[in-house]
Amino acid sequence: MKKITIAIDGHSSTGKSTLAKDLAKALAYSYVDTGAMYRAVALYCLNNGVITDEHIDANKVVAVLDEIKLDFKYNPNKNSSEIFLNGTNVEDQIRTMRISNIVSKVSSISEVRKKMVTQQQEMGKNKAVVMDGRDIGTVVFPDAELKIYMTAQPDIRAQRRLDELRSKGNTDVTFDEVLANLEKRDKEDQERLDSPLLKANDAKEVDNSNISREEQFDLILGMAKQIIKD
Ligand code: C5P
Repeated sequence: MKKITIAIDGHSSTGKSTLAKDLAKALAYSYVDTGAMYRAVALYCLNNGVITDEHIDANKVVAVLDEIKLDFKYNPNKNSSEIFLNGTNVEDQIRTMRISNIVSKVSSISEVRKKMVTQQQEMGKNKAVVMDGRDIGTVVFPDAELKIYMTAQPDIRAQRRLDELRSKGNTDVTFDEVLANLEKRDKEDQERLDSPLLKANDAKEVDNSNISREEQFDLILGMAKQIIKD
């Protein structure tokens, strides 16, 4: 059967990774969460005093890039893959508001992007992959057979992200904080000079403000199956 590449891009907290994981499972494809890679770089820099919450010196980040090794390993208990930073599982540590608040500044550094994109292209070189991020359909795999660009109203996205953070024990975070963070990240991701977030010309835009996870999944799995059988 024909193997394809599925690129899922879009605004923050639109459920890209949930959809990507569901599609990968249904098609027996691998899944790569590229946002986790940028988050892990930010975590390394924060933990090692390379950056602070308030200040990011791009030269200092670039100087430590060779010290950062990222891998994904499948966790059978969770039925999903998790990110390892220099051999340590940091899947939970990267999902905090602290990291969300600095990651877009780290991801705007061209050398960081170059390193991540090279690794992502290597991971997806044999196709049969679903990759989600901000530049997958535009930069990482511009020839992907199926490209989805996801969006939803900001308040709906903020509520979903808040529910997710709370379910993971982050009880001190507020709706307003989450909303402000995702609006700021969207702006930074769309305005950065190197590979900004934008919809590829041949991407299908999906606004999931008012459709369920299942409806969206059925719609996009249908698109993928159509392409696979053509
Ligand atoms: O997808 P997630 O929200 O975890 O991504 C975190 C951040 O990583 C984004 O806000 C963006 O700054 C950056 N990112 C990126 N390119 C990607 C994936 C994520 O710049 N392909």
